[in-house]
Amino acid sequence: MTGSGQTSATGSPVKSKNPDYKYPLSAQTAKLTYQDILPLNEEGYPVTKEFLQRVVDVLMDWVKDTHDRSRPVLEFHHPDEMWRLIDLEIPDQPVTLQKLIDDCALTLKYQVKTGHPRFMNQLSCGLDLVSMAGEWLTATANTNMFTYEIAPVFILMETVVMKKMRELIGWDGGDSILAPGGSISNLYAFLAARHKMFPQYKEKGLTSIKGQLVMYTSDQCHYSIKSCAAVCGLGTDNCIMVPSDERGRMIPQELERLVREAKLRGDIPFFVNATAGTTVLGAFDPIDQIADICEKYGIWLHIDAAWGGGLLLSKKHRHPKFTGVERAQSVTWNPHKLMGALLQCSTIHFKEDGLLISCNQMSAEYLFMTDKLYDIRYDTGDKVIQCGRHNDIFKLWLQWRAKGTEGFEKLIDRLMELAEYMVNQIKAQSDKYYLILEPELVNVSFWYIPPRLRGIPHSPSKEQDLGKICPIIKGRMMQAGTLMVGYQPDDRRPNFFRNIISSAAVTEGDIDFLLAEIDRLGNDL
Ligand SMILES: *Cc1c(COP(=O)(O)O)cnc(C)c1O
Repeated sequence: MTGSGQTSATGSPVKSKNPDYKYPLSAQTAKLTYQDILPLNEEGYPVTKEFLQRVVDVLMDWVKDTHDRSRPVLEFHHPDEMWRLIDLEIPDQPVTLQKLIDDCALTLKYQVKTGHPRFMNQLSCGLDLVSMAGEWLTATANTNMFTYEIAPVFILMETVVMKKMRELIGWDGGDSILAPGGSISNLYAFLAARHKMFPQYKEKGLTSIKGQLVMYTSDQCHYSIKSCAAVCGLGTDNCIMVPSDERGRMIPQELERLVREAKLRGDIPFFVNATAGTTVLGAFDPIDQIADICEKYGIWLHIDAAWGGGLLLSKKHRHPKFTGVERAQSVTWNPHKLMGALLQCSTIHFKEDGLLISCNQMSAEYLFMTDKLYDIRYDTGDKVIQCGRHNDIFKLWLQWRAKGTEGFEKLIDRLMELAEYMVNQIKAQSDKYYLILEPELVNVSFWYIPPRLRGIPHSPSKEQDLGKICPIIKGRMMQAGTLMVGYQPDDRRPNFFRNIISSAAVTEGDIDFLLAEIDRLGNDL
């Protein structure tokens, strides 16, 4: 489809960088449609099997190419061009099985390979193949996680893995649930905190709380914390942003000052979020000091470890970053980030058992009957604000079985080692690269310095120039398809690169490649 006659929106010729694999079905199967496979054709198992095995062939080529450094990370096309390259229309008549296979292949041809060793763009990178096998099984079992009745084994797995994670946090007992993403996990923490302090809110609503609730988080936090204030009726003005230090860590003295200020106004501070691994800089708020303040003023302490949670598995890196974590009332931890579980896999943990159910239970009579055959404590569905819940546990359980806890620890230590390697390489090339800060996690923040700006002392105006270069290099990177690294500004500086090492596929060689490639792409700027 990407013939040599095509041109991109920017006018340059589009080369077909990804191979056009062919996946022919047998001549007689190729013409068939969904009506000829199970379940509509009860005799259709052989055709069904041929069809699905071809789909698996498509997926296997993708797995192979993902790990092949000579293949591109992506084949970029602008949206207007992509519209022309793929037929996405919904037809009135069924398409053939062959066409469906071709659709699958074409879809992956243009998909970014997030598991490629040179994809370092996002907090979720990599393609853990055991976790992927788990996701395949999950899709095939296609069940719903609300009752033991229809997901008995998965529900028990959830119990086991959540208990393990709470033990790693440092609690015995407690309760946990898997949520659709860290943002929703944070929302669960907010809801439980409010419910604990104001149990009447669930029935009586907003006006049953006399006074204005206020919550605290650092100015570096993930935006989902502020979103809780918008969603839950506080208003974002009542989510108070506590200043952070130059490395992005919340300043505890500022937190205490702001809590006192609110109390003097007559407001009710009830929730503090400490981030363990901020999204941009990878900073760790000082948990122990924040916990002291929360205890002193009777405030719920939540730890958003969506990103940094994986370090809990590492004896080497856990302290001092997570010291005091067991003093928190709740912890968000996303296995789909540092631990490399497939998207999505996010968990929220509570020190106190019983809060989730008491806060969220609606006792729907058609699902959660109390006179069932089995122990209904295993019907976890009434602990959540969703009804149906996707099975996110099997892929994590299988991955954890494969690695053992020691294997996970090795993975985390390796990622940290690679980040350190990158920092050292940047320092060794200080003419070409400027390290913005010593990272606490695997986020490495830096600027590329093109030849014309080398040897000039670092200054705010030079930062402005370096910032302007980032989007241009990123654009070239995507056109070349060789690498993906993210950039963004923050409130202290203009655009800078933030490289994320959270994929088991990355090696020192890939870091060397990254630094050489950015230099190649940017040295004329
Ligand atoms: C990624 C992230 C989140 C949000 O998690 P999602 O699964 O993307 O919703 C929350 N907090 C922090 C610190 C994060 O890095």
